[in-house]
Amino acid sequence: MAVAEPRVIRLLMELRGQGISDTRTLAAIEKVPRDRFVAEPFLDQAYENHALPIACSQTISQPLVVALMTQALDVTDRMKVLEVGTGSGYQAAVLAQLCRRVYTIERHKPLLLEAEARFRALRIHNITAKVGDGARGWPEQAPFERIIVTAAAHDIPPLLVEQLAIGGIMVLPLGDTDQDLVKVTRTADGIDIQHLGAVRFVPLVEGVPGG
Ligand code: SAH
Repeated sequence: MAVAEPRVIRLLMELRGQGISDTRTLAAIEKVPRDRFVAEPFLDQAYENHALPIACSQTISQPLVVALMTQALDVTDRMKVLEVGTGSGYQAAVLAQLCRRVYTIERHKPLLLEAEARFRALRIHNITAKVGDGARGWPEQAPFERIIVTAAAHDIPPLLVEQLAIGGIMVLPLGDTDQDLVKVTRTADGIDIQHLGAVRFVPLVEGVPGG
């Protein structure tokens, strides 16, 4: 097995120090080279614990937030996971280490094409990606055992709740400037909501550019 680089080890220790205790989450983060998902001018910061700009005025999430959301999702290797907001593809690549298949939707086509090229180059074959409005979900592939939304909505998108399996978990940021990371569990007769803490995401935007 390859020995992790010092900058990767430093990041993993920082995540542990900030409350990430799930060993599968940490192992997945160790496996996915974040430097392959950031733009060239930010390569030296690829393993720093902060968000970085990507194309189309979007961001690759902070590693701590990726780890928190991955840990909260509690994914197992039999599960189908829906991600809304592919962005760089980094969060999808981390989840792909832990589940059967990730379905990911991005509204900006250039970002989606770049992310797909990264998945191919890294030989990650269990991600299916498409351009679209992720707030509508992916009905043809529903139900999903897990859903993750990586852009902030005002309210919990009802179509995503519909596409969540009973007993399934959805993790998403809610709010405008003051955002809260929320864990939604679908029960037989509704949903349970748990608050996980303050976060900062780009907004969930309806529709696709030019569409
Ligand atoms: N998960 C990403 C984070 C990307 S930032 C990563 O690991 O890099 C959030 C992304 O959500 C942006 O790329 C933005 O374009 C996308 N987004 C915003 N609203 C959307 C919507 N309604 N449907 C699909 N993608 C959306």
